[in-house]
Amino acid sequence: MRSDPTDSAVAARVASLREQIARYDRAYYQFDAPLVADADYDALFQELQQLEIAHPELCTPDSPTQRVGGQALTTFVPLRHKVPMLSIQTETDTTPAGAIAFDLRVRAKLGLGPDAPPIGYEAELKFDGLAISLRYEDGLLVRGSTRGDGETGEDVTQNLRTIRSLPLRLVGAHPPAVLEVRGEVVMKRADFERYNERQRARGLPGLVNPRNGAAGSIRQLDPNIAAQRPLAFYAYGWGEILGWADQPDSQHGMLDAFAKFGLPVASECVHGPGPQTLIDFHSRIAALRDQLPFDIDGVVYKVDSLALQERLGFRNREPIWAVAHKYPAQERATRVLAIDVQVGRTGKLTPVARLEPVFVGGVTVTNATLHNEDEIRRKDVRVGDTVIVRRAGDVIPEVVGVVLERRASDVGVPFAMSAWLGGKCPVCGSTIVREEGEVDWRCTGGLFCPAQRKQALLHFGSRRAIDIEGLGEKLVDQLVDGGFVRVLPDLYKLGVAKLANLERMANKSASNLIASIESSKHTTLPRFIYALGIRHVGEAIAKDLAAHFCSLDAIMSAGVEDLCEVADVGPIVAQSIHTFFGQPHNREVVEQLRAAGVHWSEQQSQRAGPKALAGMTFVLTGALPNLTRDEAKARIEANGGKVAGSVSKRTNYVVAGADAGSKLAKAQELGVSIVDEAGLLRLAP
Ligand code: NAD
Repeated sequence: MRSDPTDSAVAARVASLREQIARYDRAYYQFDAPLVADADYDALFQELQQLEIAHPELCTPDSPTQRVGGQALTTFVPLRHKVPMLSIQTETDTTPAGAIAFDLRVRAKLGLGPDAPPIGYEAELKFDGLAISLRYEDGLLVRGSTRGDGETGEDVTQNLRTIRSLPLRLVGAHPPAVLEVRGEVVMKRADFERYNERQRARGLPGLVNPRNGAAGSIRQLDPNIAAQRPLAFYAYGWGEILGWADQPDSQHGMLDAFAKFGLPVASECVHGPGPQTLIDFHSRIAALRDQLPFDIDGVVYKVDSLALQERLGFRNREPIWAVAHKYPAQERATRVLAIDVQVGRTGKLTPVARLEPVFVGGVTVTNATLHNEDEIRRKDVRVGDTVIVRRAGDVIPEVVGVVLERRASDVGVPFAMSAWLGGKCPVCGSTIVREEGEVDWRCTGGLFCPAQRKQALLHFGSRRAIDIEGLGEKLVDQLVDGGFVRVLPDLYKLGVAKLANLERMANKSASNLIASIESSKHTTLPRFIYALGIRHVGEAIAKDLAAHFCSLDAIMSAGVEDLCEVADVGPIVAQSIHTFFGQPHNREVVEQLRAAGVHWSEQQSQRAGPKALAGMTFVLTGALPNLTRDEAKARIEANGGKVAGSVSKRTNYVVAGADAGSKLAKAQELGVSIVDEAGLLRLAP
């Protein structure tokens, strides 16, 4: 008999699905490194299930549909479960009809007619973490293991012991002789975010998602690493039980008893009659999902009576008395259409993936953050790639990883921030920089860049800067959003009439603000420098700069080396100041501010550093007859001069004492003026 070509096509599809699913299972369960989004995996899995139902002859015992997905890693000691750890059937219909279908199946299986009373159910959260089993003997935690393939798991006792909320001994005087508690280890979203934030700041790889964070930490050979990752545990089931005199007879009774033993049990669970209990829970939790502290991927419905659970039993890898009702996926695959760079209010540049719209975590996502240059390079995200996007809770959607097997040959080039932007801020065109030891690139056009306008304005007007009373966040928003202030100097062009039109701004307060702006024109040099918002230049450094250079022009034209001469100014700070004033737009704003009347008293600068030696650089060499090095330096600085460590063409004087060495020779070679101590005292009396 000749075989039907459709049959062989189906057989080929089944074989290909099995091969693909087996590959995904290995990556997901053994290495905690998924290759595709769960939703895509589920679609393949369901296709295989449907084909096997339609063609039972193609169903083999080694099909992934016939077993629990994981496999124990050989690096851990294998632990055989006395009672297998199973999976749960997923109800594909995510509408209320899903709960009704489950109820109908259960009633049919129990042979209940339409008039029979409703079945009691329990509804629980479906935690998205790692399933584990904890064995308590006479109340003491003796072992903990993963699910593995359902029959054999891995001994991860040491790592589980690091979970603070897990009792090492059960509470109560009469614990069962043996109690195997089953539940899920999860990483709370806030802990996951915090952990990744810290990793990113150090330029280190983050965790893909909380589920992988939990699984990777527990299946980690070094318990110290597990201990550093904050994990939580929630109990929802059990395995072997021996010697428990008053064991409850319902699912909810068991969970209550667990809670009394001191085991963490999620507070969100209900029990009640019939499918309506389940439908209500499903919709209530759907609305609550984003506020839960951890990820869930659905809810689980269970027949409440343990006697009925026993009667219903199991099929393949799943109990017949339970079903998972899932919510829309929080991770989905989509395509990167472009990589854009956003400029934040502090000038930080954040690369963002523009995506083919995808429905994920309950909303349509079109953009996802890529965090920073290192992160994109580590994940090697390129334009045209298929990526997995995650959106959970209120967290900004992010790209979790690239589906490399879907990468086309014409995919874009690896990302490099500077090359991508031609070295310029995409908003204002100023130079972008990435300082040593920092992960972020920044725009240096702080005073001019529209993206940084509000921040610049707020900082400029703050009390310790130029001090404009009343210039708070709300007003700044209105001034900028209403187009009244585009660049800082516009502040000084505001009139009472214009201001009085603003929300919550009466004539009186408008006049007060104008008076405050007017009086801010008379300031001091340190305040003005600080007000410019130059990165790394706080109040102390602003004061040092003013004292050292005495004039803004001198600071603006100082080279990195000159700036380094100022106390507490190192190369990074010096470079930051130099680059800031190197931006023509920033200089323009400074000029406009001066033109608008912002000024400081020369007197103050004079007091800060008399100018007899202003702008002059000295180098000290050899031992002076009376003055110590520090005294000589202090004298030069008190007169406005600077002391450098080496002689260059820009050195004005070398002060030479006894046994002067190579510096003296260099000064002679370059023709720099050389003076002795007496000469110095004449210059700086
Ligand atoms: P499952 O996660 O869909 O459901 C079974 C598990 O649910 C149990 O083992 C248990 O750990 C957990 N669970 C959470 N809360 C529970 C509760 N209240 N009561 C009982 N159990 C609860 O099934 P699974 O076999 O563990 O994993 C299959 C899922 O894993 C798939 O749906 C798929 O999304 C994902 N997966 C993804 C990939 C991939 O490559 N992306 C690969 C393999 C599996």
